[in-house]
Amino acid sequence: MSGRAGAGLVPFDEALTRYEPVIGLETHVELGTATKMFCGCPAQFGGEPNTFVCPVCLGLPGALPVASRAAIEYTIRIGLALNCTIADWCRFARKNYFYPDMPKNFQISQYDEPLCTDGWLDVTVEPEGGGEPRQVRVGIERVHLEEDTGKSLHIGGATGRIHGADYSLVDYNRAGIPLVEIVTKPVDGTGALAPVVARAYVTELRDLLRALAVSDVRMEEGSLRCDVNTSLSATGSGRWGTRTETKNVNSLRSVERAVRFEIERQAAVLDEGGRVVQETRHFHEDTGATTAGRSKEEAQDYRYFPEPDLVPVAPSREWVEQIRASLPELPAARRARLKAEWGLSDHEFSMIQNAGAVDLVAATVTAGAGPAEARKWWLGELAREANQSGRELADLPITPADVARIAALVAAGALNDKLARQVIEGVLAGEGTPDEVVAGRGLAIVRDEAALTAAVDEAIAANPEVAEKIRAGKVAAAGALVGAVMKATRGQADAGRARELILARLGQS
Ligand code: ADP
Ligand code: MG
Ligand code: ZN
Repeated sequence: MSGRAGAGLVPFDEALTRYEPVIGLETHVELGTATKMFCGCPAQFGGEPNTFVCPVCLGLPGALPVASRAAIEYTIRIGLALNCTIADWCRFARKNYFYPDMPKNFQISQYDEPLCTDGWLDVTVEPEGGGEPRQVRVGIERVHLEEDTGKSLHIGGATGRIHGADYSLVDYNRAGIPLVEIVTKPVDGTGALAPVVARAYVTELRDLLRALAVSDVRMEEGSLRCDVNTSLSATGSGRWGTRTETKNVNSLRSVERAVRFEIERQAAVLDEGGRVVQETRHFHEDTGATTAGRSKEEAQDYRYFPEPDLVPVAPSREWVEQIRASLPELPAARRARLKAEWGLSDHEFSMIQNAGAVDLVAATVTAGAGPAEARKWWLGELAREANQSGRELADLPITPADVARIAALVAAGALNDKLARQVIEGVLAGEGTPDEVVAGRGLAIVRDEAALTAAVDEAIAANPEVAEKIRAGKVAAAGALVGAVMKATRGQADAGRARELILARLGQS
């Protein structure tokens, strides 16, 4: 077969010449309510194993659940922010299956009566290699509320999986923490952008959930978890292919990589006349590959039925409207406001956004810097530094207040850009605040007129021909002498003042 990239993969660009991808994302988010979904236990991450438990979340016989009002309110908040319809009456459902980390042997979830349905979230992506940013509307199928399971720990095996383990431990602290599942409609028509659309959607959703203050949305700790569905169909075939579901992909970058990999893998299967198996797959961070998990060819029968121990949820319209009115400014609106306040074009603003610098620039402006300066330092010097050291901008050891202080020193004429870069270097190296670095490295611009005049006279004496031209009226030649002065003062002279002195000395002012 032509154009194969190793074992069972078709190069991404080639795959896109024959196939159209469709993606769909299922995102689980643990709510940051004080208590669990159906009992009063703390809904907290960590803690000594099995200390945040009670008869209800341990599923002991006779214990009865009561739904958390806060969790329902948070879910409605999410639904409204995602432009969904909020049900005026719905029920929880019992999803029956056996698993050791699920003490009741059923999960209380929602099935055919989700709390929120039929919304959307807009995301913006930039095509690779430039071009106009493209907006994609991701449809939201449903947002429903359920309870999280406990956690199993498999001891003794090589992989942390149950296979090969000596024994397993179960921690029920997480059992019963309110969990919201957000399911997208299938997203088609994005072609080669499918992987970045998937990533942009999860990024936008995370930022939205953070703005709503409903969760701490930490992918590493598992409070935001993502299953990525991908399918391919032959271009122009007019129907969607069989999807695979890559489970628990736990970083934004991995979301993009998982879609990319599945496109390359499924293209190879289809090229060989094979059939994509409907199954769950595991994503491997180290290789970027997915491997087969559980087959979904035959639908598992969870024997769903309405949960008999809970009353229906019937949020009044007044309550829903109250929640709507209390929504904070959402990320898309905030971006539009900042873009206007900062006077930036779409492209300029999306550069800040892609660098992950919107909050940093905003905080720097709040600390007193002009938007242009704030943007210049974060996207210039600091982005370069972050790139080189493989860090996120926000993780650099410099604060927006530091950057604002440096910008203020430049605006006041105490630093020029070159010196400012050295100050940044010093702050990043842990030499202290900008003022401490200026003092410690002796970086302030030379304002001593006598020293400056001496440097100017020296420059004139060393460049008699240039001096003669200026005397004869060729003022433009002064640049060469300013350069000599800057060199002699190791960049610390006030270039504007040096120029004035040179012109005065040579009878041109
Ligand atoms: P399941 O219970 O199997 O996880 P869900 O309905 O919860 O099913 O989620 C299925 C996800 O897969 C949704 O996000 C949906 O949009 C997406 N999806 C459905 N069909 C396809 C397809 N052909 N290709 C890619 N994604 C799909
Ligand atoms: Mg699902
Ligand atoms: Zn409990």
